[in-house]
Amino acid sequence: MQLQRTDRRFLCSRYAIALASLVLLCARVPTAAAQSCGAHGVAAQVLGSGGPELEDKRASSSYLVWEEGQARVLVDAGGGSALRFGESGAQMSQLDALLFTHFHVDHSADFSALIKSSWFEDRKRPLPIYGPAGNDFMPSTSEFVSDFFGAQRGAYRYLSELLAPGEESSYKMQPHSVAAGDAPVAVYRTGDLAIFAVRVVHGAVPALAWRVEAGGKVFVFSGDTNGEGAGLARLASGADLFIAHNAVPEGATGIERRLHMPPSVIGQIAGDARVKSLVLSHRMLRTLGKEDQTLAEIRKRYSGPVAFANDLDCFPVN
Ligand SMILES: [Zn+2]
Repeated sequence: MQLQRTDRRFLCSRYAIALASLVLLCARVPTAAAQSCGAHGVAAQVLGSGGPELEDKRASSSYLVWEEGQARVLVDAGGGSALRFGESGAQMSQLDALLFTHFHVDHSADFSALIKSSWFEDRKRPLPIYGPAGNDFMPSTSEFVSDFFGAQRGAYRYLSELLAPGEESSYKMQPHSVAAGDAPVAVYRTGDLAIFAVRVVHGAVPALAWRVEAGGKVFVFSGDTNGEGAGLARLASGADLFIAHNAVPEGATGIERRLHMPPSVIGQIAGDARVKSLVLSHRMLRTLGKEDQTLAEIRKRYSGPVAFANDLDCFPVN
């Protein structure tokens, strides 16, 4: 079959973009093929690299920490991430813990889809779920889980067996609301896995950043934050991989800036914390296409490897 002229031009531009992306990636943090993420050693995988906008053609915020082929920790479950979870080859029965940074839609909308999928798996042990405490604007983590699966008033009360103590089920969710400050607080530890949180500032929304230590390596997830306070840099201290949210460009003002950190602040925190590598995620229409400017701002304050995340990118740490 002969390609039409317009088809050829389209394909050429696609190849050019793909080639340019490859060159960009090669110069920065190494990635591995998505299918083999975490098969050996430990790795973080980006399930969702986008923000709330569907037009970015990315799943919303979500990350996995892999160790020796097991998906051990899931951080956030934004819209579209449940599909990426399946594509990654992970299973809900593998998870030691599920963490939420906060309960905006783009960080939590696929939670119920993941739980329903787990019902078909052979999970036999409790699933701890950690996230922020609530306030007037947002539910606590315990309330959030009950709002879906509570036996009396949950929207999906038909699955209440996975939460209600008296009902027969193969496993139970165990929600915990974490009250954290600027000093990292330990919330979970088993074997070589340890999880810590600090409070971060994301407008009036209760929000946490997470540090996951697995197999002797350290992964830190900023979640959404404007970067105020000392907690995030303390949490990220010496991290092997720091995944920070690139939701606004340099020079952002108003509500955007009150909610999110610009590249200069990301660079400052990465530099202060002396992280070994930096991944920029939660990419939005207002930051996509501004990678050069973003990188230039970060480079003024941080000299380590930097990568811009795409869905299913895998970042092994050796
Ligand atoms: Zn967000």
